Amino acid sequence: MKPLIVKLGGSVITDKHRRFAVKRSALKRLASELATVKGPLVVVHGGGSFGHPLASKYKIDEGYKNERQLMGLSLTHRAMERLNAHVIDALQKAGLPAIAIPPSACAVVSDGRIQSMELAPIKKLLELGLAPILYGDAVPDLSRGMCILSGDQLIVYLARELGAGRVVLGVDVDGVYTGDPKVDRNAKLVPEITLANWPKLVESISSAGGKDVTGGMANKVRELLALAERRVEAEIVNATKPGTLRRAILGERGLGTRVVAR
Ligand code: ADP
Repeated sequence: MKPLIVKLGGSVITDKHRRFAVKRSALKRLASELATVKGPLVVVHGGGSFGHPLASKYKIDEGYKNERQLMGLSLTHRAMERLNAHVIDALQKAGLPAIAIPPSACAVVSDGRIQSMELAPIKKLLELGLAPILYGDAVPDLSRGMCILSGDQLIVYLARELGAGRVVLGVDVDGVYTGDPKVDRNAKLVPEITLANWPKLVESISSAGGKDVTGGMANKVRELLALAERRVEAEIVNATKPGTLRRAILGERGLGTRVVAR
């Protein structure tokens, strides 16, 4: 059976305006929604108010420049481990045998991109029926020294290498809009993004997003289109609405923005 890859956005499981604040009730609900998956499942979560502020403070994504960044990398990774522990706890309570896989220990990254990754343990865990849980992380970079490996890049790499059937991203808005829906009242939801309509959409979307270290919504779509080229479909849905993530992972289409090749 092809694995399902689910990303939980940092904005869904943490309060982005309060440092180290987990949205506990949302996480509990999402854990029970994820526990309804019957087949192999990989979950990747974002950093939200755990990873992003430290990553920006120490400019991890600009590569190694000074000694202060060593503690910065250590602190950013530790913050992500702490958020990950909350996620694992919630999934276990919901009955899902989840296990943490720290990307900084198994991804070989160069110039900000994953070159390779030790996948044998992940594959074995999936075969046994466990759910590997990864996260956006501060990682060593073979050429830059250090960088941020985003959850968005991870889901695409894992989907490709594990032969995933589908990818579902849970965010805190209804999908991809023509502009940031939190800023632009006239922004319209785009139900489907394809290799054909993307070039026209990208201008308005890029000018609206890109606030955090991983580049916001346009970057997510860019990563997902690379996957669409390989015929793996993705859907971006609103995981803050109870039941929406569950419906999407159980196979319902059209709940948010689909990113497909056609
Ligand atoms: P996460 O941390 O959940 O992965 P991000 O914060 O990176 O998510 O991206 C989701 C956010 O992107 C939304 O909360 C929204 O405010 C913002 N955003 C910017 N541009 C757009 C757009 N064109 N369509 C939808 N959301 C957008």
